[in-house]
Amino acid sequence: MPTILVTGGAGYVGSHTCVELLNSGYDVISVDNCCNSSSESLRRIEMITGKKIDFYEADIRSYKMLYKIFKENKIDAVIHFAGLKAVRESVLNPLLYYDNNLCGTINLCNIMNKFGIKRIVFSSSATVYSDSSAPPFDEEMPTGEVSNPYGRSKYVIEEILKDLKTSDNAWSISVLRYFNPVGAHESGTIGEDPLGIPNNLMPFVTKVALGLLPCLTIFSKDYKTRDGTCIRDYIHVVDLAKGHLLALKEVLTKNTIDIYNLGTGVGCSVLELVEAFEEACNVKINYKIGGKRQGDLPIVYANVSKAENKLGFKTSRSIKKMCEDSFNWQIKNPLGYRQFVK
Ligand code: NAD
Ligand code: UDP
Repeated sequence: MPTILVTGGAGYVGSHTCVELLNSGYDVISVDNCCNSSSESLRRIEMITGKKIDFYEADIRSYKMLYKIFKENKIDAVIHFAGLKAVRESVLNPLLYYDNNLCGTINLCNIMNKFGIKRIVFSSSATVYSDSSAPPFDEEMPTGEVSNPYGRSKYVIEEILKDLKTSDNAWSISVLRYFNPVGAHESGTIGEDPLGIPNNLMPFVTKVALGLLPCLTIFSKDYKTRDGTCIRDYIHVVDLAKGHLLALKEVLTKNTIDIYNLGTGVGCSVLELVEAFEEACNVKINYKIGGKRQGDLPIVYANVSKAENKLGFKTSRSIKKMCEDSFNWQIKNPLGYRQFVK
């Protein structure tokens, strides 16, 4: 079976993808500097799968370290998750985001080029779509009108990858635009582990549910949606991880560049998510309605026909399952991975 280098493999989506890769028989090497994760997640991946993962604690911006990784291993393809992802932080510190996300990716592609390994699956985001397009978003819609450095870094990387393919047709590239990943492995062993107070809705809800935070603020009920709250396309992280295996298979077997939305194609409002959580987990979520969060679009959901038709991608985990698995992870790990790390 091929050997896959997973950048950012200790992180949320990366760790779930490592599980699916190992369970499918791939050999996995991971590189992560653990700036937003813990190496404890790698131990958990090994626990779940009973298989070994080769781990390099390193920054993908280090030419020397990446060179060493490629020199020491026979890598067939790369799944590239490593990056910073907090929108607000990117507004406050754009240089950090451009340095980490862009320079990291350029360094990675340079080394891949050097070693003649030209197969890559890249984590992009629905944030690249333009505010002026009407949902559902499909892959042909315009991109690039992004309002923050994080989103812009994703857009620019997509463009770099397209240029790379134009310059050298030997590259095989799959760009995956995620919608809203939530949920956790059903064992509750790995999951989303944000540092400090979460920015995202689901980890905030699970912390309120457990009494770790007092109250959820719903960012406005004044949107032109069915209940006034924003609509998003939540996708279970295990369904998302499985999507990576389909994309990987494509880059390993074809010479292609393709962009795919990975979502469910179904929108769910903030209030609907809170209600679904209360019902699925049998808890009350204390919430209040607050003002709008700057930059939030009222409605974001995917057209997933391309991923369905070309990759055979199909999600199977419901909103109920997303809530149950998120809460299960939070109950089993109230302090995330930190409580287990010295
Ligand atoms: P995450 O922060 O949990 O995982 C990213 C991992 O990359 C972390 O383990 C971090 O330590 C590592 N990393 C960051 N910079 C690095 C560097 N320079 N060198 C080595 N390792 C580095 O985030 P995630 O939710 O798993 O997201 C994975 C990818 O998917 C990211 O690129 C993110 O932008 C993208 N994405 C995530 C979401 C989401 O909502 N989770 C949505 C769209 C796109
Ligand atoms: N949201 C909210 N309260 C929070 C966090 C998020 O009401 O504490 C809303 C937010 O306005 C958005 C939705 O939940 O409409 C999903 O937000 P998240 O940050 O998880 O994802 P994104 O904004 O990237 O779609």
